[in-house]
Amino acid sequence: LFLDAALSVGQMVELTPAQTHYLGGVMRRAAGHEVAVFNGRDGEWRAVIEVMEKKRARLRILEQTAPQLGPPDLWLMFAPIKKARTDFIVEKATELGCARIQPVLTRFTNAERVRVDRLQAHAVEAAEQCGGTFVPEVAEPVRLDRLLGDWPADRRLMFCDEARTALPVAEALAGAGGGPWAILVGPEGGFASDEAARLRAIPGVVPVTLGPRILRADTAAAAAITAWQMQLGD
Ligand code: SAM
Repeated sequence: LFLDAALSVGQMVELTPAQTHYLGGVMRRAAGHEVAVFNGRDGEWRAVIEVMEKKRARLRILEQTAPQLGPPDLWLMFAPIKKARTDFIVEKATELGCARIQPVLTRFTNAERVRVDRLQAHAVEAAEQCGGTFVPEVAEPVRLDRLLGDWPADRRLMFCDEARTALPVAEALAGAGGGPWAILVGPEGGFASDEAARLRAIPGVVPVTLGPRILRADTAAAAAITAWQMQLGD
């Protein structure tokens, strides 16, 4: 169960009506039962249900049972697309172990408005579903040129470049070395040619191809993270 709170031994936590319904109504738990809880930052904890009523429940935090094993410090940066497919990207980035999910507004991005709170809740659900205790942060959208303007010098960028000139991931990342990484995927309309040219020219940016076919942006995001994890993941 995800609790959006700092956790400590002996702490009492009142559940929301939705969490109460989930625990009592769906999971059929009662007072005295134990439940695993996490807040997305401090690993997994054991808690006992002190009170379980129809509309109200209270837990007592007992102990931390698993440390926070954050994934490698991998960022996924993607141009938001239609809602359902953006949800899919957030879900897969969470399941595949991204630490941060950054919507990026490029020239041909068609979904300029992004409901970050809704996407963050989606990331929590995806983390719960895959038994993870780490919840990636979903950041506010940022324009590509602003992002590149103050790009962190220590972070490498794997640029999913659908041009024929890029190397396959395994080759492109071979010997690319450590350090935190980010992956960038474009919108359904792709990158503008000057955006792609600018990206290719930045030192530390590694253009990669994901194969001979043009993948949908959501497929490309999942494929790129998987390919990166196979090369540099833990
Ligand atoms: N501009 C593309 C076209 O010519 O139809 C469409 C862009 S594609 C739907 C969305 C994004 O996924 C691209 O901007 C790129 O980042 C990534 N992508 C898709 N297929 C790819 C491939 N084969 N290699 C590298 N990146 C790819």
